Amino acid sequence: MNPIPVNTPLLNGNELKYLTECIETGWISSEGPFISKFEQQFSTYIGRDYGVAVSNGSAALDIAVKALNIGPGDEVIMPTFTIISPAQSVVTAGALPVLVDSDSLTWNMDVTQIEDKITSRTKAILVVHIYGLPVDMDPVIEIAKKHQLKIIEDAAEMHGQTYKDKMCGSFGDISIFSFYPNKHITTGEGGMLLCNDKELAERCKKLRNLCFEPNGPRFVHDELGWNYRMTNLQAALGVAQLEQLEGFIEKKRAMGTTYQKGLSFLKDKGYQLPVEKTNFSENIYWVFGIVAPNQAEKEKIVSHLTESKIGTRPFFWCMHEQPVFQKMGLFKNEKYPMAEKLARNGFYLPSGLGLDLIKDVKFIKDNFYSLLK
Ligand SMILES: *Cc1c(COP(=O)(O)O)cnc(C)c1O
Repeated sequence: MNPIPVNTPLLNGNELKYLTECIETGWISSEGPFISKFEQQFSTYIGRDYGVAVSNGSAALDIAVKALNIGPGDEVIMPTFTIISPAQSVVTAGALPVLVDSDSLTWNMDVTQIEDKITSRTKAILVVHIYGLPVDMDPVIEIAKKHQLKIIEDAAEMHGQTYKDKMCGSFGDISIFSFYPNKHITTGEGGMLLCNDKELAERCKKLRNLCFEPNGPRFVHDELGWNYRMTNLQAALGVAQLEQLEGFIEKKRAMGTTYQKGLSFLKDKGYQLPVEKTNFSENIYWVFGIVAPNQAEKEKIVSHLTESKIGTRPFFWCMHEQPVFQKMGLFKNEKYPMAEKLARNGFYLPSGLGLDLIKDVKFIKDNFYSLLK
């Protein structure tokens, strides 16, 4: 049996053709026709007016925070159970992440905890859709309206997922995506900011390009930004991948359904599998996560799978338990029991588009059986 990696991307469409076009025409930098093409096509797909392609999803978050003028003295409400990128963007901007715990079923931020965390310093709610199901957006939108807060939507795991028939990535004042190779579509490294506000989009473009003044004198800057530009090579991949996104989503859902069927016996053994659907969305299974009954059992099953060359990844580690933030004096004595439980007991199985739904999933299931029978 060959190893089953936790992710393998599929690059079987027009990727090579479009990349060849870049090489043959010499357009390989962040100038070049694929960039605006990718920005236009992806923003249209999500239903937004403007797209700004950048070098990765974390860069998109840095720009989003700065473009909304969030800085020292400001607070941003976000989940503690997330990848570090959104929290890092807020902290490096000099603002304070204010954390909320997770919902036990969807693993997303518990939106009922948001309103209690609002203070006079709160500027924004940063939602992060986790693993396959979106955050329950209606209450978030209502709270944001009532308290005049901005919404930053991290949709890096949600390409093509919908909330009540509207695309994820269409809800934030600014929304962001990542195109890392384990996302639904990839550009190798890459990301995009989406919004409907022309001025905001222009500001994002300026921030990704060292704050060169688009109309001012060259090499004279009145603000600091970053070089977060995407290359034409990356955008060429993006255009080719986007052509295949609908098929990729079908494949992810088929993977989820196959795992659900094959692993349903785990529920009787105290394991939690992903929710298949809520009243607002059907799971897109960016990754197929599993929560073991306790940490010891998780470690046992993960090392058994590793020995059988089945790739796994642990769940995110909570922001309030990050050594880097603790050293900065952040989140002292804060406790978020549900998120802590997910972080300790959760892991995910091979979830890439290259997974063989018959052979690989059967092998993975047999491994669970042999350990837990
Ligand atoms: C992948 C991811 C990011 C970061 O994207 P990169 O392109 O890897 O920088 C941010 N947020 C979430 C939720 C992600 O899954």
